[in-house]
Amino acid sequence: MNLQLTEEQKMIQKMARDFAVKYVAPVAAEMDEKGEVPFDNIRRMAELGFLGLTAPEEYGGVGADTVSYVIALEEISRACASTAIVMAVQNSLVNYGPQKFGTEEQRQKYLPRLTSGEWIGAFALTEPGAGSDSAAQRTVAVRDGDDYVITGSKHFITSGGFADVVILFAMTDKEKGTRGITAFIVEKGTPGFSVGKEEHKMGIRASNTCELIFEDCRVPVANRLGEEGQGFKIAMTVLDAGRIGVAAQAVGIAQAALDASVEYAKTREQFGKPIGQFQAIQWMLADMATQIEAARLLTYSAALKKDSGERYSKEASMAKLFASETAVWVTNRGIQIHGGYGYMKEYPLERYYRDAKITELYEGTSEVQRLVIAGQLLR
Ligand SMILES: Cc1cc2nc3c(=O)[nH]c(=O)nc-3n(C[C@H](O)[C@H](O)[C@H](O)COP(=O)(O)OP(=O)(O)OC[C@H]3O[C@@H](n4cnc5c(N)ncnc54)[C@H](O)[C@@H]3O)c2cc1C
Repeated sequence: MNLQLTEEQKMIQKMARDFAVKYVAPVAAEMDEKGEVPFDNIRRMAELGFLGLTAPEEYGGVGADTVSYVIALEEISRACASTAIVMAVQNSLVNYGPQKFGTEEQRQKYLPRLTSGEWIGAFALTEPGAGSDSAAQRTVAVRDGDDYVITGSKHFITSGGFADVVILFAMTDKEKGTRGITAFIVEKGTPGFSVGKEEHKMGIRASNTCELIFEDCRVPVANRLGEEGQGFKIAMTVLDAGRIGVAAQAVGIAQAALDASVEYAKTREQFGKPIGQFQAIQWMLADMATQIEAARLLTYSAALKKDSGERYSKEASMAKLFASETAVWVTNRGIQIHGGYGYMKEYPLERYYRDAKITELYEGTSEVQRLVIAGQLLR
C-alpha cells in the first residue's frame, strides 16, 4: 500500500483545508445551533469541484481518485460534518449511480448538473419499515406504457428537502425479493413527488433530513437507472462507495476533537500546571491519536482498493465500522479532557460528539457493517 500522497492529492488536500478553515469552520457552530443548511458553503464547495470530485472530467467532474476524495472529505468534516455529508452524498450515492449504471443519455443529462453543483442530489432508499432491512421496500413502481407510476414514501433522506434530483428505489416485483427492486432518477417538480416532514436531529443539525412522498408519481422509463430488478445491486454498490466517505467523515470529526483536546491540555491549568502534564490526560491523548491514525489508514486502504478496481465491500465496511466507533470514542474522550467546559456550547466538543454518533448509524449501522464483514469472511 503506497501511503505517499501524490502532488495532486496534496493539492486537493490543501484546497479542502483552506476552504474549510476560511469558510466552513467560522459558521459551523452557528449553523448547527440554528439547524440551517450552509448553502453558501455548498455553492463554494461546488465551485471548487468538490461536488464532482470523483466523476469523470467528460461529465464536468474533476476525475480525482478515491484517496483524494477521502482526504478532502476529512478536511471538510474537521470543520463541519454537516457540510461534508452533502459532498459525500453527492459524490458517492448520487453521481456514482448514473456514472456506473446509467445510460449515456442519463450521464449527459444529469452528471454535468450534479458535478457543477447546479443540482443537488439525494439518495432515497430508507423507508419507515425498511431501514437495515433495506430490501423490505413498500414503495412500488408499476409500469404503465412508457412510464412507471410510483407510490410510497421514504424517510430520513439527507438533503431531501431541497434536492433537485433523487435516486429513488422502489419495488417493481415483490415476488422477486431483492431482485424485484428498481432504481429511478426522479426530478424535483415531477407531479406526485413532494417533500414531507423535516426531522429535528441530535447531530449534523446543519444538514437537512426529510421525508419524501410519492403519490401516483409518473416517471418515464428513460429515467429508470439500470435494468428492472437491478436496483438493490445499484444501492449496495453505491453504498460501498458511500461507506468509505462516512469513514472519512468520522476520521475528520475525530481529528477535530483531538486537535481541540491537545490545545486545551496545553492551556488549561489545574493544581498549578497544565492538565497535559498529568499522565491520565497524556494517555487519553495518545490513545485518541493512535485510534485516529488506525481509522485513517483503514479508510485510505479501502479507498486504494476501490481505485484498484478490486472488490472492496469488506474494506469499506471495516473502515466505516472502525472509523465511526473511533469517532464516538474519541469525541467522548475529548469532552472528558475538557471537563465541564466540554459539555458547554462555547466549546465545539459537544457538537463533535453529537456529529460523531451519526456515523455509526447511516449508510448501514455498525451491526450491519459487522454483518457485511462476517458475510465476506464466511463466503
Ligand atoms: C441523519 C440521518 C440521515 C440519513 N440519510 C439517509 C439518506 O440520505 N438516504 C437513505 O436512504 N437513508 C438515510 N438514512 C437512514 C439510515 O441509513 C438508517 O437509519 C439506517 O440504515 C438504520 O435503519 P433504521 O433507522 O430503520 O434502524 P433499524 O434497521 O430499525 O435498526 C435498529 C437497530 O437494530 C439493529 N439491527 C437491525 N437489523 C439487525 C440485524 N440483522 N442484526 C443485528 N442488528 C440489527 C440495528 O443495527 C440498530 O441497532 C439516514 C438516517 C439518519 C439518522
